[in-house]
Amino acid sequence: MPVNPVEWTSERFSKNYVADYKPYNFVDGEGVRCSIYVSGCPFACRGCYNKAAQDFNYGSPYSRELESQIIKDLSADYCQGLTLLGGEPFLNTGVTVPLCEEVRESFGWSKDIWSWTGYTWDELMEGTEDKRRLLELIDVVVDGRFEQDKMNLNLAFRGSSNQRIIDVQASLKSGEVVLWNEGDYY
Ligand code: SF4
Repeated sequence: MPVNPVEWTSERFSKNYVADYKPYNFVDGEGVRCSIYVSGCPFACRGCYNKAAQDFNYGSPYSRELESQIIKDLSADYCQGLTLLGGEPFLNTGVTVPLCEEVRESFGWSKDIWSWTGYTWDELMEGTEDKRRLLELIDVVVDGRFEQDKMNLNLAFRGSSNQRIIDVQASLKSGEVVLWNEGDYY
């Protein structure tokens, strides 16, 4: 396996498996959300919150039926959007890119999309084309590995203080990291 995560590819790792799907929760971003947990993450952080989902073979294959269910669940007025978690959403782009494209097709930008990732923003910028495509489709990314020595349970939406909540579209436009909500999320 290449040492540099920038060289890791979804094509090489992903089995297009899903560890879990949780409709209508309140913890994976702002508002009421539908969360999909894709399988597989080679970052293997010490203290990972979802160790079972580090395995690319964990769970069950993603299906058209699940995609239809997610779109149906998202259509509820009170549901603010979709959240991608893992596992590593940017190494499961065979699942996450078509799903996010379907969300944009069905709802435009009236539903938002959040994603957690072990990649830093800079690594995503250097990464493969599919990672860039996923970024083009999402609103907010929480970036970086979970670092146990920086763990802080009081942080909003993050496990460790190195992680940032990033406004993806503003960052892509400006070419530098723009924090979500002007960084007012502590
Ligand atoms: S990046 Fe996230 S899912 Fe991957 S090993 Fe680290 S904490 Fe676990």
